[in-house]
Amino acid sequence: MHRKITRRDFINGVAVTAGAAMMPWHLAEAAAAQTPSNYYPPALTGMRGSHPGSFETAHSLRDGTFWDSTGKPEDTGEVYDLIVVGGGISGLSAAHYYRKAAGNSARILILDNHDDFGGHAKRNEFRVGDAFRLCFGGTFSIESPSPYSKVAKELVQELGIDVPSFPQYMDRKLYRSFGLRSKIFFDKETFGVDRLVMNFSPRGGGESEDASPETPQLMKQFMAEAPIADQAKRDLKAFYEQPKDYYPGLTSDEKKAKLARISYASFLKDVASVHEDIVKLFQAMPHGLFGVGIDAVPAQDAWGLGLPGFTGLNLDPSPGKGMNRDAIRSEEADKYFFHFPDGNATIARLLVRKLIPNVMPGNSLSDVILAKADYAKLDHPDSAVRIRLNSTAVRVKHLGDATSAKEVEVAYARGGKAYTCKAKNAILACWHVVIPYICEELPDKQKEALSSAQKVPLLYTNIAINNWKSFQKVGTNSIYAPGMYHTYVNLDLPVSIGGYECARKPGEPIVVHMSKAACHPGLPARQQHSYGRIELFTTTFETMERNIRDQLARTLGAGGFDPARDIAAITVNRWPHGYAYEYNSLYDSFWLEGGETPCEVARKPHGRIAIANSDAGAYAYTDEAINQGYRAVQEITKS
Ligand SMILES: Cc1cc2nc3c(=O)[nH]c(=O)nc-3n(C[C@H](O)[C@H](O)[C@H](O)COP(=O)(O)OP(=O)(O)OC[C@H]3O[C@@H](n4cnc5c(N)ncnc54)[C@H](O)[C@@H]3O)c2cc1C
Repeated sequence: MHRKITRRDFINGVAVTAGAAMMPWHLAEAAAAQTPSNYYPPALTGMRGSHPGSFETAHSLRDGTFWDSTGKPEDTGEVYDLIVVGGGISGLSAAHYYRKAAGNSARILILDNHDDFGGHAKRNEFRVGDAFRLCFGGTFSIESPSPYSKVAKELVQELGIDVPSFPQYMDRKLYRSFGLRSKIFFDKETFGVDRLVMNFSPRGGGESEDASPETPQLMKQFMAEAPIADQAKRDLKAFYEQPKDYYPGLTSDEKKAKLARISYASFLKDVASVHEDIVKLFQAMPHGLFGVGIDAVPAQDAWGLGLPGFTGLNLDPSPGKGMNRDAIRSEEADKYFFHFPDGNATIARLLVRKLIPNVMPGNSLSDVILAKADYAKLDHPDSAVRIRLNSTAVRVKHLGDATSAKEVEVAYARGGKAYTCKAKNAILACWHVVIPYICEELPDKQKEALSSAQKVPLLYTNIAINNWKSFQKVGTNSIYAPGMYHTYVNLDLPVSIGGYECARKPGEPIVVHMSKAACHPGLPARQQHSYGRIELFTTTFETMERNIRDQLARTLGAGGFDPARDIAAITVNRWPHGYAYEYNSLYDSFWLEGGETPCEVARKPHGRIAIANSDAGAYAYTDEAINQGYRAVQEITKS
């Protein structure tokens, strides 16, 4: 643990991060804009996600320093039918739908500030010895609490993805065949002692694939091992064995209305009066869904998610007013699941291959997984569709009055210089908080609504390790760690598809996925997200690496894990602008009271400019990114 950080660590980000902090924005971007022949972002390790060089331009625009430090933009002379700002799934889908409407000869330019396409749907590649390992840098899977819309389902099908076929690609029994189970890591700072304990919850709250028949046995083992107070154990048991009605005399709707207005933490502490160890234990459980802990999750949503304490209330199973869509499960939606080894980066790659076939060989799902993208072909003058990376849109405006203008001009910064190009239409498929800075002509009310779309800051950390014998020895593949830097630790899902083979033996290299929600418990959700965003932008890779090493050494030490020996590479996918903000009945009164929501105001078309992104639906899912891309295209093509 205390061994010197090696050259690998230096390459992995220490030097890059420190360097970027000292560089003026245009130098950082210039470095990123060079595209040598070996330009291949998926194989880069270290600080990824919003990597150094991707955000400095936008931040200087926000701070009002951009136009002072850059000269007059150079006119590229390029004229397009459509310019899309944002190369995530929403922007790529918008380009796809536009081309369907306008024909294959339609000229489309997609701008993105990152060095890779896909937005949150990013691919991470690793080579460990002879083994090739893929992992997801953001968007994990095709899944959504509500069923996919007709539009989104049709696109998935058109891309050749047969969602119901997923089980054939996943080895569901693999980890269980080695005796691995979902566990909880109690840390000494929070619970007085470091201990890895059997998880009483069969699904583990993470991406565990455990089945559920042995709950009583798991609970027994948990009770015997967990370092929590005896009273806390009795309280937890009582939730299951002696459920209580904490609101006698109220109707189900009245009870739900109360639960919508208090957090789950308050419910546990003030209504159910459980021991504080229970609150500490559950605190981080919703991190993966909401990016905040139970202090900022409404009790009604906790009920919807199946967290304990509500059985005795005898609530009507229908969703209550103001419930988050994540907390309303549908059987149809639950069945619609597909995980590619690189997550939904495969969807982004399939879209890119449809738009610019030269970029990747092949034409089916089975040949896309291992296909290597040729980044030099993304922005080729001979192609009708072009994707320009490392390019931050800094100004989008109509050339003339929005109601009568025939063209839109888009200025973007790349390699320390600003450029302009023109198009008949523009779709802003980027993060909504950015839009007021780049499109000043929008009405003030719309800009205010756009600015309220706080993003949820997240870390998705992928660690390639030489083998997973230590996981086998401590008997787990999935760990919930409520007090640690990363609250979830999972061995990669064992999925083999299209010639890609996952690790099947404990002696083989594998990717460990760790996730962190950068939240600040006790504050309103939006404020937690803004503090978390600053935290992620200001934490160095070195600090993150120390935390990773510390956590893995403490969790897996008994299994012989040695961070200095066993870690082959680390990729931290830093997403200070992560999930779309979803409305919360504790803080967003309109969500309880009804009426127009901010995202409806934010996404209104303006002349030749339409607005997409999952933010436009305040819903952090791929289907929404697709739905909003589709809607934006309908708006500009119908006029
Ligand atoms: C860590 C993580 C995990 C997720 N997991 C899942 C999952 O398992 N399943 C699921 O359905 N959804 C998941 N999501 C939600 C995910 O955001 C959506 O599924 C979807 O990928 C969003 O696509 P998008 O195009 O709307 O936005 P994005 O993917 O964010 O794309 C927008 C792009 O616009 C770019 N941009 C911003 N400003 C500018 C500018 N000025 N100029 C140029 N470009 C700009 C951004 O950098 C970004 O690349 C996850 C999100 C995160 C962050």
